[in-house]
Amino acid sequence: MENKIYDVIVVGAGLSGLQAAHDIQQAGFSCIVLEARDRVGGKTWSVPLANGNGFVDIGAAWTNDTNQTHMYSLVQKFGIELVQQNTEGDCVFLDEDGTTHKFPYGTSPKFTTEEVEDLERIRDEIHDLSVTYKAKGVANYDRLSLEQSSSAKGDRRRPSK
Ligand SMILES: Cc1cc2nc3c(=O)[nH]c(=O)nc-3n(C[C@H](O)[C@H](O)[C@H](O)COP(=O)(O)OP(=O)(O)OC[C@H]3O[C@@H](n4cnc5c(N)ncnc54)[C@H](O)[C@@H]3O)c2cc1C
Repeated sequence: MENKIYDVIVVGAGLSGLQAAHDIQQAGFSCIVLEARDRVGGKTWSVPLANGNGFVDIGAAWTNDTNQTHMYSLVQKFGIELVQQNTEGDCVFLDEDGTTHKFPYGTSPKFTTEEVEDLERIRDEIHDLSVTYKAKGVANYDRLSLEQSSSAKGDRRRPSK
């Protein structure tokens, strides 16, 4: 690496680091971005499908113009193509033992009544949190994995087969 002095060192080339690097340069300062991985993007990661018919998002996939207006304006600024969420056809659920379950979009997989109630309640809790993200105490959720959060609420685990 060349010997050069930078005004700012940004650690991490996820969306935050890349936006920071962009802002720093716009403000007239020099910067270097250090990334531990061999790619940029962090928790966003689009991987080509093996059959060559498009990409699958391993990380972030969805955005909207209602409660993600900053991200949405960046999408427009950089001319990034958005694909509308498909709301027809089947969804595929991958179980922890590797089996797959197909079910029509808008319905729940054919689990037991208790399992469906758990899934729907967790889904609704996450939805409610996402639309009230500025509410007091929500920041604590950043320190929890989804599993830790749902275990803390007493959610049942599916029995291993
Ligand atoms: C499975 C999944 C699905 C998601 N779906 C959505 C979605 O649909 N819509 C949405 O809006 N958000 C979604 N998110 C959240 C979204 O991906 C993140 O909020 C966002 O990408 C975080 O960006 P960031 O730059 O803050 O952090 P990160 O993306 O985590 O970037 C941090 C970067 O810093 C690097 N780094 C860390 N430590 C060091 C170090 N010491 N030295 C060098 N580099 C370092 C990391 O390798 C990484 O590249 C999803 C996240 C996941 C995991």
